[in-house]
Amino acid sequence: MGKLNIRQIDSEFYYDGNDLGAALVGEDKDRTVFKTWSPYATCVYLNLYLDGEGDNKVETLPMERLDKGVWYVELFRSCDGYFYTFSYEFENRYKNETIDIYAKACGVNGNRGAVVDFSTTDPEGWDSVERPKCANACDAVVYECHVRDFSADPSSGVVAEYRGKFKGFTQSRTRCGVSETCLDHLKELGITHVHLLPVADYATVDESKPKKAQYNWGYDPKNYNCLEGSYSTDPEDPKVRIREFKELVMTLHKNGIGVIMDVVYNHTYHTEESSFEKAFPGYYYRVREDGSFSNGSGCGNETASDHLMFRKFMIDSLKFWATEYKIDGFRFDLMALHDIETVNIIRDELNKLDPQLLMYGEGWTGGESPLSADKLAYKWNSYEFGRVGLFNDNIRDSVKGGTFNPYDMGFISGNRNTASVLRRGIAGSVPHRQLNDAAEACWAFEPTQAVNYCEAHDNNTLWDKLKISGSHFPESDLVKMDKLAAAIIILSQGMPFIQLGQDFLRSKPRILAEGEEPNGVNIYSHDSYNAPDFTNSIKWDRKNEYRHVFNYYKALIKLRRGSPLFRLSTKGDVENHLEFLDSGDWNFIVFKLENEHECYVVALNPYHEDRYFNLPWGIFYKRLDENGNVCCDDMSGYVCCPPLSASVFKRR
Ligand code: CA
Repeated sequence: MGKLNIRQIDSEFYYDGNDLGAALVGEDKDRTVFKTWSPYATCVYLNLYLDGEGDNKVETLPMERLDKGVWYVELFRSCDGYFYTFSYEFENRYKNETIDIYAKACGVNGNRGAVVDFSTTDPEGWDSVERPKCANACDAVVYECHVRDFSADPSSGVVAEYRGKFKGFTQSRTRCGVSETCLDHLKELGITHVHLLPVADYATVDESKPKKAQYNWGYDPKNYNCLEGSYSTDPEDPKVRIREFKELVMTLHKNGIGVIMDVVYNHTYHTEESSFEKAFPGYYYRVREDGSFSNGSGCGNETASDHLMFRKFMIDSLKFWATEYKIDGFRFDLMALHDIETVNIIRDELNKLDPQLLMYGEGWTGGESPLSADKLAYKWNSYEFGRVGLFNDNIRDSVKGGTFNPYDMGFISGNRNTASVLRRGIAGSVPHRQLNDAAEACWAFEPTQAVNYCEAHDNNTLWDKLKISGSHFPESDLVKMDKLAAAIIILSQGMPFIQLGQDFLRSKPRILAEGEEPNGVNIYSHDSYNAPDFTNSIKWDRKNEYRHVFNYYKALIKLRRGSPLFRLSTKGDVENHLEFLDSGDWNFIVFKLENEHECYVVALNPYHEDRYFNLPWGIFYKRLDENGNVCCDDMSGYVCCPPLSASVFKRR
């Protein structure tokens, strides 16, 4: 059809109705309405099926064209339980059959939509469970989990049929030896939110073969409003995954834990063959001058949030997840591919539902976008969307060393040139009277914008990175470095973010290819997106092995959640309550957090020897030692911080 005039389409055909897709209507839900938007189609047909795949078509019905390029057909019966597709005909020549981009449920492998009466999918008690409270992002402690990793391994203690599924989050009292696992582990650790790697339908795991060894993180989106079938105990029945995911949300909510979804609206796994391209060729993606698909995602295409009907699609989709599934927040993959205006509108729309819904994302892209860089939600434009969180790669790299060079060292492992950047991170990445350098690390509009982390699903785990870059240190030192990193991330201003298993030194061992020699780096996976369970799944016996590390993370989280001083939500509060103390050594970082009720002093010693400094006035005790314990002895004046550790003192 050639390159489209998007501006003209958006002004002539923008449709603001909230009824695209399939809906059961009428008091008894005894009618079914199908609507789809495709202004340049010459005909559109609805195809009804009995199943999610195979040769079982019931009928094909022509749809009627309404205003604004919307197509419509109404059936005077409930189609609950039926499957459907649309066929779009263009220039009366070619006809694309595809799943509805607005489908809220689907058959196995997401090739046909399913009509579902959602009121029949609620688990018992669904209406009575409320979302946990979270006043602002700094009150959250986020734990990033992949559904399969969480419980796939038998050591999870989860019953075999629930392992690796949504249901794996619903079983309580699971153990591995003396350690609590899965749901009980989340409660024991004390995190506030579980952030799930993509749970919307993705393309590359064959849901019809549940016994086959398959794995993917899920950044290969296929249907944005449907759940991934491989996490269901029955991918053939569209309602099962819906009910089981609601059980996951309800179980976590009952335990005071919120659920954040990782959403990947920036690209689709398929390009020419995607449902968007079939529904309206050329509209939903950004294209280059020559009409070819641009590739800002690095995955073959990039969607166009600046085209009004894709923007609307994103908003409708997010509102659906937040309301139907009571989701508590969203993490946007490659958020910088979305335009700033869209990101701000999404924040406004989420605020209308509930201002405490969290929203954060990656302030970078996977390639070059044709949209100009000043319009996109890059981290360097952070002030333009100050209410939306961004992953803090500055604190990450200052703590452990650059992510892309496995040998690079950070503050914890002996790099004496990262303390300036780190101080910025400790101060929530906002301006502070005592900090004059490392301006690049001062990017947050408020501390609520800074998502502080040193480990996520991407790249080596913190522990593997330490093993690679610190191979000349004894393992006992590497453990101390890991704990020091945790103290920095959890006691800095901003929102701490931890990867599942980081709290017991998660490792991602890699299976070497035939003939490949181990070299100290290649034995660890730095990109495990489709690696087997051997690499990815949580081996819960590790929690027994590194119990003392887990206890330390738990103590840090408890400390953070126990005082508002670790969760200052405005730059004014940071200015007023945070003060860096003079330790006599720029790399021995000591800071004080004080309000009218409490005073804490945190010392971070990256050296292999004891370091001493002077406490401010008053009598203190050690609120947190290097083992995570409280030591009640009175202390004042000149005090010691042990090697490679954080010490937290509290004034009596
Ligand atoms: Ca799928």
